[in-house]
Formats: sequence, structure tokens, C-alpha cells
Amino acid sequence: TRVVCLVRRPDGEPLPGDFAVEKRPLPPLGEGQLLVRNLYMSVDPSMRGRLESTEKHYTHNFTPGTPLDGRALGVVEESRCASVPPGAFVRHQLGWRERAVLDAADTDGADRIDPRLAPLPTWLGLLGLLGQTGFTAYVGLTRIAQVRPGDTVFVSAAAGAVGTAAGQFARLLGADRVIGTAGGPDKCVLLVEEFGYHAAADYRAEPVRHALARLAPDGIDVYFDNVGGEQLAAALHALRTGGRVALCGMMSQFGGDRRPADINQLIQAVLKRLTLRGFIVRDHDDLRPEFERRVAGWLTEGRITARETVVEGLENAAGALLSLLGGGNVGKMLVRLDEC
Ligand code: NDP
Repeated sequence: TRVVCLVRRPDGEPLPGDFAVEKRPLPPLGEGQLLVRNLYMSVDPSMRGRLESTEKHYTHNFTPGTPLDGRALGVVEESRCASVPPGAFVRHQLGWRERAVLDAADTDGADRIDPRLAPLPTWLGLLGLLGQTGFTAYVGLTRIAQVRPGDTVFVSAAAGAVGTAAGQFARLLGADRVIGTAGGPDKCVLLVEEFGYHAAADYRAEPVRHALARLAPDGIDVYFDNVGGEQLAAALHALRTGGRVALCGMMSQFGGDRRPADINQLIQAVLKRLTLRGFIVRDHDDLRPEFERRVAGWLTEGRITARETVVEGLENAAGALLSLLGGGNVGKMLVRLDEC
């Protein structure tokens, strides 16, 4: 089968030549296993850290000469498991390849989905009921930052997969004012017109500290942080006494221009009795039933919008990752494989 391999670890910014599409033999299909043809693959920012040798991430790092992996959705072509027939759709962790052999019984291995309930890309994307990015936004807002009616909420990387969910959810959770930052004027228009933000600012065009002073002159109560760096420092200044920060990710520290937040800005946390809390979504699975119930309601009522950016073909998958890191996506970044 064709797979995307890491050829070498990036020296600084990842480049297209760090990846190659290669052919690899598939293992024989054993008892209880499924042969799956992948239809969609998820492109995630966390893959950036996994390209490095040293940085520790929440799952294993990639090894040069071996295929990448990640969340994917495929159709079963052959089955040696009675409960999962050929033709079933499954979500699993062996993306970045055309075909994969999975253990049907392994809970991490294959998770069957019903394509009648939602379009296939949605199952990997923003609002798939079990979609990781929608759930990340929900956990960060409800459990970590504890958004309350009347809050002013600020979300960075607001036009991305987590950010488009977070803006819409924050409003539905009762926030009075929801502000987002994104790269470029087009994304800022989308934030307000499609994704429920009251106001948006282009972080490349203006210092975020100025933007927050303009858009939230009375301060903010919650910061949902997808990027770290300068935006985190700006948010610390804008937060009101007792404000809460959900530390979700650090996109600004993945790029070439890794300006760290000045650690001394944390004095703001002392002065204003702030709560800053990092989280990894997989530790909060107990919230899933509540998330599914509420988001299913919002979906059927037509109160939330899902959006994906879809890149075609395995040979363009590495390019999709580089594009994601540079902000080339709106909503969830996915790769669709040729044959589907
Ligand atoms: P996104 O769809 O948001 O894609 C990443 C976005 O980051 C890009 O579109 C780009 O948008 C923005 N970006 C890139 N570089 C910078 C920069 N220097 N400064 C500010 N923004 C930048 O990805 P996801 O929604 O999948 O993930 C969003 C965040 O959530 C990531 O930090 C990710 O690591 C984190 N995450 C955390 C989880 C957890 O359990 N804690 C689980 C899943 C995701 P723009 O054009 O606006 O620059």
C-alpha cells in the first residue's frame, strides 16, 4: 500500500522534501482483524511536534524511514471479525496510508461510525459527535475555563478546527461577547459572519494587546489559548480579576518565528488572581455523553456550522500539514484519498 513516510527530521521548518510517498507491504490479515481503505485523514497541529526527536508529546514521536500515522476514516474491504462486515465505516489511528490492517477489538484500533448520521468528513472534523476538535473546544470552555453566562471570551486561532467550534459553543454557553483572532482579513470576516464571533482581529496586522483594548475595553473573563506567545501575554493583560485561561495549544511555538511570551507577564496572574489550566482532551472522556447530548441538540436545531478544508490525494498530504501550520485552513484540515 502507499504510505507517507518521514524521510528525515526537519531542520527548522518542515519542508516538502522531509516527506515521501512510498510503497510498503501490508501484513497478512489475522483473526479479528480488518483491512480498511482510508477515505479521509485528519491533519493535526500535534503532528508538528511529533516530527522532532526530543520534544515530548502526548503520543509517540515519528521515526525517520517509517510511515506517519494519525486519525483517519475508512471503509472495511476485508474482515476477519464477524461483527464488522465489509462495507462498514470505521474511524481509527492508522492514517497517512491508503490501506491499513487494524485489530477490530482494540478500542483504539477501530471505532465504527454510521454515515447516515453525519457526512463522512464531519466524523473527523469540527462537529462529528465524537470529533476530537469539537470535543476539545467543549472541554476547554466548560470544564477548564468554566465559561458562565455574561462572560467575555477571547479565542485565538479562532478560524481553525478547535477555534470555529469554541466561538460557536461559547456563545451557546451564554457568553455575552466572543472575540477571536486569526491570520488575515478574510478569516476575520468569516469569524463574524459564519462562526458566531461578535468581533475579530487579524493578529498579523495589529498587536493583539491593542486589538483586545479596542474590542474588549472592559477586559475579558476567559481566554481559550490555541497559540501561546504574544497572544497569551496580551490576554494576561486583558483578563479581569478572577479570569480563567484554558491552555489548549501553542501554535505560535511551532513556526519559524517562535517569539515566546515574556514569562514576567505572569505577574498579571498574581495581581489578578487568574487561573491558568492546561489540559489534554483525552483525560476528559467522562464529559463525552454530556457533549454529545448538547452538541447533537445544537446540530439538529441548526445552531452550529461545521467547516472543513479538504486537500485531495495522499501525495498532497504532507503539503496539507505544512499548509495547516501556515494557516492555510478554515475549520478542520482533512485529506481525501483519490479512490473515494
Ligand atoms: P487549527 O485548525 O486551528 O490549525 C492551526 C491554526 O493555527 C492555523 O490555521 C493558523 O491559523 C494558526 N497558526 C499557525 N501559526 C500561528 C502563529 N504563529 N500564531 C497564531 N496562530 C497561528 O488546528 P486545530 O484546531 O486542530 O488545533 C488548534 C490548537 O488546539 C492547536 O494548538 C492544537 O495543538 C490544540 N489542540 C489541543 C488539544 C488538547 O487536547 N489540548 C487537542 C487538539 C488540538 P491563522 O491563519 O489564524 O494563523
